[in-house]
Amino acid sequence: RSNAEKFEFQAEVSRLMDILINSLYSNKDIFLRELISNASDALDKIRFLSLTDKEILGEGDNTKLEIQIKLDKEKKVLSIRDRGIGMTKEELIKNLGTIAKSGTSAFVERMQTGGDLNLIGQFGVGFYSVYLVAEYVEVISKHNDDKQYVWESKADGAFAVSEDVWNEPLGRGTEIRLHLREEAGEYLEENKLKELVKKYSEFINFPIYIWSSKEVDAEVPADEDESSEEEETTDSSSSEEEEVEDEDAEKKPKTKKVKETTYEWELLNDVKAIWLRSPKEVTDEEYTKFYQSLAKDFSEEKPLAWSHFTAEGDVEFKAVLFVPPKAPQDLYESYYNTNKSNLKLYVRRVFISDEFDELLPKYLNFLKGLVDSDTLPLNVSREMLQQHSSLKTIKKKLIRKALDMIRRIAEEDPDESNVKDKKDVEEDSDNDEKKGQYTKFWNEFGKSVKLGIIEDATNRNRLAKLLRFESTKSGGKLASLDQYISRMKPGQKDIFYITGSSKEQLENSPFLERLTKKNYEVIFFTDPVDEYLMQYLMDYEDKKFQNVSKEGLKLGKDSKDKDLKESFKELTKWWKGALASENVDEVKISNRLDNSPCVVVTSKYGWSANMERIMQSQTL
Ligand code: ADP
Ligand code: MG
Repeated sequence: RSNAEKFEFQAEVSRLMDILINSLYSNKDIFLRELISNASDALDKIRFLSLTDKEILGEGDNTKLEIQIKLDKEKKVLSIRDRGIGMTKEELIKNLGTIAKSGTSAFVERMQTGGDLNLIGQFGVGFYSVYLVAEYVEVISKHNDDKQYVWESKADGAFAVSEDVWNEPLGRGTEIRLHLREEAGEYLEENKLKELVKKYSEFINFPIYIWSSKEVDAEVPADEDESSEEEETTDSSSSEEEEVEDEDAEKKPKTKKVKETTYEWELLNDVKAIWLRSPKEVTDEEYTKFYQSLAKDFSEEKPLAWSHFTAEGDVEFKAVLFVPPKAPQDLYESYYNTNKSNLKLYVRRVFISDEFDELLPKYLNFLKGLVDSDTLPLNVSREMLQQHSSLKTIKKKLIRKALDMIRRIAEEDPDESNVKDKKDVEEDSDNDEKKGQYTKFWNEFGKSVKLGIIEDATNRNRLAKLLRFESTKSGGKLASLDQYISRMKPGQKDIFYITGSSKEQLENSPFLERLTKKNYEVIFFTDPVDEYLMQYLMDYEDKKFQNVSKEGLKLGKDSKDKDLKESFKELTKWWKGALASENVDEVKISNRLDNSPCVVVTSKYGWSANMERIMQSQTL
């Protein structure tokens, strides 16, 4: 094309495209889902802008917020078109080739170590999946602020952008034309595409149409038949009379049925939003599929739990929350630097934003889901919305529902022996599915619960109920605080715990000797975050937490204590003198030991030895 400007793909993007082109990945279907998801995003954007500026939608067909799929079998072209926001020339260049997103190299890296291509959408590079099936791709786009442009590439390291002087004007939006590879012929089959839209794009909130061919029965006069070419047309009325007498002629109708192909737009999805339906009517499978499309997580694993509810009162909203089956790799790496919630905010069915950090506290950012509010105003800017007073109420309710949902994972898990009403849980096949789910939750997101205890004073007790740990009595399994309390010895006032770098190290600790001998249970806290956790978690159900390596350990009353103190008075005095006072605060008689002659304990309010170790490793 004479007016084309040529560009090179950014290096990482080029590598990504090479991987996709040469991929032996069998599930190439995913490209369609990615294109539809992009079309839907573009439609969301224009709809959002139209809230404050009605003019922006234009008129006529331009106001139809929909997605259209069309096939050209002869030219082997599949096209997907939307009437979304479109891309300016500059955006075409940036978004489709020259600016690598942070996910690009992460995805390339994953693919080189056998990662799942199916998750491409999560990395923000879904568009490039077109090269799984196409050898040549054209992106025609019209943005309100620019002329219509064509982006094109054969994935040979370069792409071109030209002003579109050939194609029909789009009005507004984007059309992606895939010139399919020889071996991708199946995507020219209407039925295949319909099946894929049903499978992957069921929860897109805009109508998806396919230019569908229909074989219709048409009746044409029999004499228009080929036979009429052989026979001379006779007078129809006389021939009819003759045929009545003739047995063979009886089977021959006077008109002939033929198949005719007509085309029409066929709607492929039901755009009634799942969150508007009654939870009773939505099946588990539908929730799972909804989760997949919402989270772009097509990893076949079901979400661990979900909660679908309507909040009424001053602030009305509907919400669906999900606990994903797995934590993203960087969930805790970027914890303190980012505050990106994974909730999508809708106001009266209109998508507003998925970067609304006021909806959930940081520690719940692992949840996926959606909130649709009728109370929030529609025609204000995102910034105004962010300060709306209803958000506080929404947040409060979301937290409560989220914590309830997590608690239910434990309650329904037959492996969790501390569940109070366990007998009520029926032994059915459903239980097998729930078995071990809480351990799974804990392994993926336990740290979030701990961060919650640290950060959320209001819900500290609720979160503490969700806490799991190993202890001297848990037998290698996870135990809860309720379980600990139910096993406390008569007269035991405190909850004992010890912190360290591993369970193995702690099991041999002299601090435990006496306690285990006397059959007290001691919790092992081995995660670095636990030290911080225990600075915030002071008590649970009126029981205080006592670090057994710190001063203040009381193991019930012992009448001999006083006598012992008396008779060793001279020794402890001498010892304190012998150890310079900067090294120890005090020397005491202790009943915490059994075999070891002495231990160094830390003061009640000082850092534990483990904390010293953590702080040291952080400054190194
Ligand atoms: P993501 O959708 O996660 O941002 P993609 O690789 O799928 O990543 O798309 C890259 C970018 O290209 C999008 O962020 C968007 O800016 C742009 N884009 C893709 N398809 C369309 C479309 N149909 N309409 C408008 N912009 C689009
Ligand atoms: Mg995308």
